[in-house]
Amino acid sequence: MRTLSSFLSGTWQPGSTDRTTVLYNPATEEPLAQVGRATDLDKAVAYARNVGGPALRALSFGERGAILKQMAGLLHEHREELIAVSIASGGTTRGDAKFDIDGATGVLATYARLARDLGDKPWVVLDEPAALVRTSKIRAQHVLVPRHGLAIHINAFNFPAWGMIGKAAVSLLAGMPVLSKPGTSTSLLAHRIAELIVEAKLLPEGAFSLLMGSAGDLLDHVGPQDVIAFTGSAYTGALIRGHQKVVAENVRVNIEADSVNAVVAGPDLESDSELFDLFIRDCVTEITQKAGQKCTATRRILVPSKILDEVQEELVERLDEKANQTGNPATKGVRMGPLATKRQLQDAREGLKKLAKDAPIIRGNPERGEFIDVEDGKGYFLEPILLRATPEAARNPNAQFHQTEVFGPVSTLLPYDGSLAQAREIIGYGGGSLVTTVYSDDRKFVAGTVAELGPYLGRLVVADEKSAGGSFAPGCVFPQAQHGGPGRAGCGAELGGRLGLELYMQRTAIQGGASQLARLFGKPKSSD
Ligand code: NAP
Repeated sequence: MRTLSSFLSGTWQPGSTDRTTVLYNPATEEPLAQVGRATDLDKAVAYARNVGGPALRALSFGERGAILKQMAGLLHEHREELIAVSIASGGTTRGDAKFDIDGATGVLATYARLARDLGDKPWVVLDEPAALVRTSKIRAQHVLVPRHGLAIHINAFNFPAWGMIGKAAVSLLAGMPVLSKPGTSTSLLAHRIAELIVEAKLLPEGAFSLLMGSAGDLLDHVGPQDVIAFTGSAYTGALIRGHQKVVAENVRVNIEADSVNAVVAGPDLESDSELFDLFIRDCVTEITQKAGQKCTATRRILVPSKILDEVQEELVERLDEKANQTGNPATKGVRMGPLATKRQLQDAREGLKKLAKDAPIIRGNPERGEFIDVEDGKGYFLEPILLRATPEAARNPNAQFHQTEVFGPVSTLLPYDGSLAQAREIIGYGGGSLVTTVYSDDRKFVAGTVAELGPYLGRLVVADEKSAGGSFAPGCVFPQAQHGGPGRAGCGAELGGRLGLELYMQRTAIQGGASQLARLFGKPKSSD
């Protein structure tokens, strides 16, 4: 069987094959490849830091941006091949594969464009000089400079392309070399992208490394200039944050973890509106896209009690359609594929048992075994599942649908009284989420959500009748908007245009005479 090598210290290394992990096609259970255990991670980290770092920092923002643009072109050129790899190794439909791969290309293109505004100095100026005391010419001003360490990216299995490239684009533009570790089960796609990047020789030596398989002793080699950006479960996030070396060296850590995202139908939402259609469409997308294996997927649907039955009827009808289109994603007409691994399927079924204690299943059979073009009993399939809570259960902070993220095509309808206070209360029970969409034309309600729901969210989407035709589902993450969320969601923040660079750069205050600062950073726009 083919063994996928890591790219470390500037060479492809198969690693030790004494303990290998096999990757499977999740629709057919056919073995695809294996990965070994990488060794000499201390050397790989030092090489990336000491060879890749200086080489990358020697380039201007503009030059680094030009590389990102070429990388975007490279992914686009190989798009069809990458889609095929994604379908086979990730169980994605063609649409899901495009979402991941085009998403990666989009981040590269966005940060390539952003580079044009960053100037040709080795820093980014953040603000205007501020006088320290009225009678003095001494000023303080803040800049961002690239950190002199390594950006270690540990990614989840669900977005092998976007996860790896989205993080890499920002680090590389900031001037930090990257060591990327994909989630092992779907890492065939990340591996192919890495091969393309390495073969194309677009990046300076040492600027990009790939670690296949387990992280091993990687974190034992981190230092105070490094950054760890992690995406995955809250459990692993806590292990990483609490790792002895990470704590001892005060390594900067960004965690993107699980999230029980909610959407809110506003008190004014009516069934014969375009906004209602958008609401239903978004819910279906967020339940079924990537078979619900998205950190941003909608897990809780808040609906005013008065329209709950109508919402249920519409949603069930649309999910029935999707259930009949679930199967082998390589087959034409299939609209939803399997979960990525046997373990994910087991976890999702276990999680559903917990959820069902607090809200009965009203659509779907977690044990269903027959799907389109799939050998009976084969593959890791779960059909769309909808649950419905009572108003009392919805307001129980300990209810499992507030606590447990079932990483599959699963969501729960939660009735509420249509008030902002109750929406805030119920959303808050999730402990901090990545994203919420509010569907409403009630201006007072919408204005209230910013301050009332904002503290619990990384991103708030406000959808109204006027924008309904062009609105994007909440799970669609654009690089211009921040991705991350407070509390349970990991308390991290990535992307967000220029803001995203801050993760990989040091903010330093430069204090000195007004003329000195003007020479370094340009004349201030305002003179005080
Ligand atoms: P996971 O099991 O926590 O794994 C995530 C990554 O961490 C994988 O690369 C994994 O490697 C690695 N890892 C595991 N143990 C480690 C350790 N002790 N030290 C260092 N790295 C370690 O999560 P997953 O199952 O891949 O992903 C699903 C979860 O990710 C869901 O809960 C989902 O909500 C969350 N997620 C969050 C976001 C977000 O942006 N907030 C995005 C996507 C997914 P192996 O694969 O080799 O085990």
